[in-house]
Amino acid sequence: MDQINMKNEPALDNFWMPFTANRQFKAAPRLLASAEGMYYTDVDGNRVLDGTAGLWCCNAGHGRKKISEAVGRQLSTMDFAPTFQMGHPIAFDFAAKLAKIAPGGPSAELDRVFFTGSGSESVDTALKIAIAYQRTIGQGTRTRIIGREKGYHGVGFGGISVGGLVNNRRVFPQIPADHMRHTLDLDRNAFSKGLPEHGVELADDLERLVQLHGAETIAAVIVEPMSGSAGVILPPKGYLEKLRATADKHGILLIFDEVITGFGRLGTPFATDYFGVVPDLVTTAKGLTNGTIPMGAVFASRKVYDGLMVGPENAIELFHGYTYSGHPVACAAGIATLDIYEEEGLLTRAATLADYWQDALHSLKDHPHVVDIRNLGLVGAVEVAPRDGAPGTRAYDVFVDCFRKGLLIRVTGDIIALSPPLIVEKSEIDTIVSTISDALQRVA
Ligand code: PLP
Repeated sequence: MDQINMKNEPALDNFWMPFTANRQFKAAPRLLASAEGMYYTDVDGNRVLDGTAGLWCCNAGHGRKKISEAVGRQLSTMDFAPTFQMGHPIAFDFAAKLAKIAPGGPSAELDRVFFTGSGSESVDTALKIAIAYQRTIGQGTRTRIIGREKGYHGVGFGGISVGGLVNNRRVFPQIPADHMRHTLDLDRNAFSKGLPEHGVELADDLERLVQLHGAETIAAVIVEPMSGSAGVILPPKGYLEKLRATADKHGILLIFDEVITGFGRLGTPFATDYFGVVPDLVTTAKGLTNGTIPMGAVFASRKVYDGLMVGPENAIELFHGYTYSGHPVACAAGIATLDIYEEEGLLTRAATLADYWQDALHSLKDHPHVVDIRNLGLVGAVEVAPRDGAPGTRAYDVFVDCFRKGLLIRVTGDIIALSPPLIVEKSEIDTIVSTISDALQRVA
């Protein structure tokens, strides 16, 4: 690789890149060097508009001084301290601040917060809490979790088991799980604006799986209220309400994976608020710290938390946790992030831009190869038809074209996914859409 080590590029051999075609990438790398507001700058000094909030995480945009100052202060005050049988005030402060904006508002009582280091850890934590809770209330046979086809719940063994993306699953063993069908239906719902009309009956899959396995074997059902990583798949109208009702009927806990939808992406603090459907556990990460310091958090209902707070008071109630649960530096980043969200109204700003965003995206409808456009809040997807025998290559070419023209988008298969920082201005939405428009015209 030394021969491609040109002026601003480091040696590329050693970093084994995640979810990347390493050999292809290293032959023609795209390297970002700095970030400010809505823009990255690459190693050659080109500005790149961020159409994806990094990886769905930098909701307040980049280079936020308030966060870096808080992180710097915390690092020099106390760099690390354990949270196993020990504590530090900032972790309790952060949990209390999160409780104030917890999914579903005060009546939902989702205000007990378990800190993790990532979205994957949040998911595995929520699954373990659900199984432990069922056992503690005398439902120890409930060990199976229901997920959904095309679901993405990170890469832990729990997450891939309940997830529904074949490439993430095929090589690895899994915990007991089963899957509902996904809700993507281009035949009936293509070019829907916002939530699709058709498909509420797919929520009946939960009832079918109960009939197949027996309710007494099922601990929880986990879904992304709006699924992002698989290419922006929206719940049909009434779908989540139905899942909640079926879960209640059978004593099954409902988990919303809000790693992407948490912290304002849909125009409400959480998707739980957007849909008005209250789960028992909510997983988060990404926007929790504006992507700055790795961290996740699971919001648990008081019912679940109190259910586990039994037995002798000197006994550990849940044998689970991470060295970095409640890391003080991550908590400092998180508190500063929440301050910014509040000061700038970012947890609801997407709602004020959603119509503009929708119209802008749907203007791509008649472009070459476009087979669907989906949107909700400040999330969007443009799906293109796959090339014969070479699925994924057309969208990838659009991605590379956009990057060359100064726009970062994300592609999954032949789906272009968009999720700009929530500070985006209308003029930047125009740039995102016109750059994709040009790319679609160029790419065969
Ligand atoms: N859950 C959902 C819904 C996600 O979108 C992601 C990441 O994109 C994860 C979990 C995993 O998060 P992480 O990559 O931080 O482990």
